[in-house]
Amino acid sequence: MPRPQDLAPNYDQVIESVLRDVSAPMSVLKLAQKIVAVRPSTSKDPIKAAEKKIKEAIGRQLVFIDSDTITPLRLAWQGVRFRVDLSREEVSKGFFDVANMFSHYLPEGFNLANFHLMDANGEMIKFKINTIKKNIKGIFGTSEQTFYYCHIPDWLHACKFAQKDYLLFTILDRENGMLKMEHEPSKQINTALLESRNQLLANIFYEMLESSSSERLYLSQALPTAYARLPQKDGYPPYHWVIIMSSDERMAVTGFGDITYRDGKKSMLDSLVEEFDGTKRKSLKKSVSKEQKEQVYRFKAELKHRPKIWRMIEIQGKDMLKDFNRILVDVFDHDFDHLGGFWKLVPRAPHGGAKRGVTRYREVDLGSVDPFGGGEAADVTIAELELGVGSKMKYVFDFGDWIEHVLTLEAIEASQPDAKYPREAKRNTPKYTNCVECLKKGRETTAVYICLTCTKNPDEERLLCEECVENHESKDHYVEKILY
Ligand SMILES: [Zn+2]
Ligand SMILES: [Zn+2]
Repeated sequence: MPRPQDLAPNYDQVIESVLRDVSAPMSVLKLAQKIVAVRPSTSKDPIKAAEKKIKEAIGRQLVFIDSDTITPLRLAWQGVRFRVDLSREEVSKGFFDVANMFSHYLPEGFNLANFHLMDANGEMIKFKINTIKKNIKGIFGTSEQTFYYCHIPDWLHACKFAQKDYLLFTILDRENGMLKMEHEPSKQINTALLESRNQLLANIFYEMLESSSSERLYLSQALPTAYARLPQKDGYPPYHWVIIMSSDERMAVTGFGDITYRDGKKSMLDSLVEEFDGTKRKSLKKSVSKEQKEQVYRFKAELKHRPKIWRMIEIQGKDMLKDFNRILVDVFDHDFDHLGGFWKLVPRAPHGGAKRGVTRYREVDLGSVDPFGGGEAADVTIAELELGVGSKMKYVFDFGDWIEHVLTLEAIEASQPDAKYPREAKRNTPKYTNCVECLKKGRETTAVYICLTCTKNPDEERLLCEECVENHESKDHYVEKILY
């Protein structure tokens, strides 16, 4: 016997049934009201509960056109247009690889032999599907994969398809794999319009990435959302999304098939996949002019958790992060034998629910520098980091103790003829404290160490001078140098 709660439809089913009759974008509130009407809720705020479920359905049942408006997934995809060119071999033999051609344009798990093509007049285009099984080496070993090739030699021949022409696709019915296929001869291509359409779509993706809470976009959500937001979706077709993404300098597709920043953090799997298929992302290496090499970059370096302790450092464009590391270790009096790590902090657009006036940064890992001047970041020059006045970096010394510094670029100036760089230009006025042992004896001596074992609370710091540390009652106490 089914229990009553088993018979009540779940949220997915309710959203599905409500969206089935929706033929245009609608407000989130209205959808929530419809959901509550079908499925009364016991929650304190049923509308809010329904809105939460609506957010969970992004990419599966619906997408957000803006923060207040949704459209069913079916409508987001309907009418989406994209273009591809064919390789020389594909044109001469008259075929294309179905999985590549319709990557994400058909639903996940769709049988690639079961799509339909229609021409501009609404006539079905006849084609043959060839399947070939190949053993493909992947990062988890070799596996057998089936490739689907769609053969359309007669159709290509009939429309006199030439090498520089385009195939234009329009999604008519994604669930049932129905697409329109058209031919655009090269002399009809509107290059300027195409360029602007490609850029428009790329910018929509980038805006989504910038305002996302993480630094990744899931394709299943991002693609239909971007197309739903594209003005004149039925207008001049931009490139296939894969081409859009691979030709954009700002974004990359990860090993998981998600969209991320091209210079962003890579997961272990991303690196493995890249290593495997040789799709290394572009490196940061930029060309730098002679003037930029001579310029002096003035950084204020402060301890993140004690910003009153700061040093002003001047370093030239041609200097490298190993030089920067060396002077930072020096001016902050750090131990010598630990790694230092640098990150570039790049401001991001604010996230939807974020506080105003608080800048979000993403951290571009530049790598580390070891005490002997090695490490992946060692030879990166200051100039090629493309910093401007106000730019920020993060510097961490000793990944065990994690001493974090904030580096802010305060000025870029001409170098002075007699100066030697890098150099310390200025530092905070030190507020010296006295040795507590000497104070007891009525002497005022500057404390150089703090005994962390004896210091039980911040108001009673056990601060000691050089001499008193020598005579400190217990030699095995943990003392640390005080930074002024
Ligand atoms: Zn002690
Ligand atoms: Zn003392």
